[in-house]
Amino acid sequence: MTHKDAGLVFNIQQFSVHDGPGIRTIVFFKGCPLRCQWCANPESQNQNTELSFNYNKCIGTKECALCIKACPEEAIAESGDNSIKINRELCVNCNICAGVCPAKALEIFGRFMTVNEVLKIVEEDSVFYSRSGGGITLSGGEPLMQADFAWQLLKEAKSRGINTAIETCGYANWDNAKKVFKYVNTVFYDIKCLDADKHKQFTSVSNKIILDNLEKLCREFPHIPVIVRTPVIPGFNDGAEDIIAIRDYIKNIPNISYELLAYHRFGESKYPYLGRDYLFKDAEPLSQERIKQLKAIVE
Ligand code: SF4
Ligand code: SF4
Repeated sequence: MTHKDAGLVFNIQQFSVHDGPGIRTIVFFKGCPLRCQWCANPESQNQNTELSFNYNKCIGTKECALCIKACPEEAIAESGDNSIKINRELCVNCNICAGVCPAKALEIFGRFMTVNEVLKIVEEDSVFYSRSGGGITLSGGEPLMQADFAWQLLKEAKSRGINTAIETCGYANWDNAKKVFKYVNTVFYDIKCLDADKHKQFTSVSNKIILDNLEKLCREFPHIPVIVRTPVIPGFNDGAEDIIAIRDYIKNIPNISYELLAYHRFGESKYPYLGRDYLFKDAEPLSQERIKQLKAIVE
């Protein structure tokens, strides 16, 4: 298998009921053009495979140190507290250290998979799809960043009678996005904020391409139901005016519905595994009452 025939996937989650109709299998693509500061899946952002180290699982260099001896790049050294430190500048993500680690403290995020390999897992749940109206949902990361793999996967899924959905941030070349949307039954489309400067500050990109693509999607594929979603992030877009602006922006576009997703901190623990800081560590999730008030605006 060459990487040309494969997509980089970091997780496949079966039995989901939140990401499209019925019971679904979610295929998480690795790589995202945005750098949302609150991202719950930091392992999804980088477009390459990536080494993760869980300090709590390491049994210690006094007892083990197998990874230090195994690394051909000398990227792992003793940290001085009976554990290891990784020089990520030297690491080439070869996976050798993860292979020798007896405690599974080292792990590579991301695996190249073919369409058939992904669908073999997806089809394990075919019986539940037909009963519930479920199917496959592409998520990420951003599936449109691997548009060729995404459309091939969805085309093949559809030819096997599997319902298809995609979760996208909408930041993509339109010609690539179009190839993918051709094979999609439902689109979940993130609109995080209408203020272009604020959008850039918190996500690293402007929202212009995202908004342009939403209009093109609804114009060129009017038969596809689009669910616009806003993750409500404290200190970024949790003001009533932020939500009203998005609600009003999409209200005249046919075939769109709108929902809010509450911010959570489930991804926080994964940042240190990747040697990164979680920039939202001081942000508190919104109260149930506040979420209810914002949902009332949307409803
Ligand atoms: S993935 Fe390879 S290069 Fe990176 S630390 Fe492990 S053994 Fe060394
Ligand atoms: S091989 Fe695993 S358990 Fe052993 S020192 Fe390295 S990270 Fe720790």
